[in-house]
Amino acid sequence: MTPADPGKTCTQDTRIGLIHTAAVVNTRPSGADELAGLRNTLRDLWQVTDPGVAAGVAEQLLAEARARPQLVTHDGVGWHLHISSPDKAWPAYLAIEAAMGVIDLIRGDDLDRLKRCAAPGCAAVLVDLSRNRSKRYCANGTCGNRVHVAAYRARRRTRPARSATSIREEHP
Ligand SMILES: [Zn+2]
Repeated sequence: MTPADPGKTCTQDTRIGLIHTAAVVNTRPSGADELAGLRNTLRDLWQVTDPGVAAGVAEQLLAEARARPQLVTHDGVGWHLHISSPDKAWPAYLAIEAAMGVIDLIRGDDLDRLKRCAAPGCAAVLVDLSRNRSKRYCANGTCGNRVHVAAYRARRRTRPARSATSIREEHP
């Protein structure tokens, strides 16, 4: 499979989303070895807090994909940057998109948006795009609920049992 138009997506959210996608992708399409290598590289980024180190990773990804930047205008959109690769395959495409996402994060001082799910036992990573950077759980749909239910049950267990007398006093 090859991307229909490598480098055509240009928005920051798309790039950040693709970092996440590339970090968690677990399929085995053609180029699986390259994708696994990219996944490991990107997963390591979740440990990085130094922008200089992250910049080095982005530069390495762009170099390995033989990225070719082009200034273009099309479809009524003003001049903007497309980056393509002579390797018209998903690993190179994702590496370039991920690298551009990393660059966006560095330029926006947003590396702290790369988080790990706060739910016990979950190893997923996430990109917190919330305005107040408050996202704590991955997008699998269960981690946040699981933690909240466990906290609710723990509170109920520690709450002193009310006697029948006190209940009668509250509801005469
Ligand atoms: Zn999770």
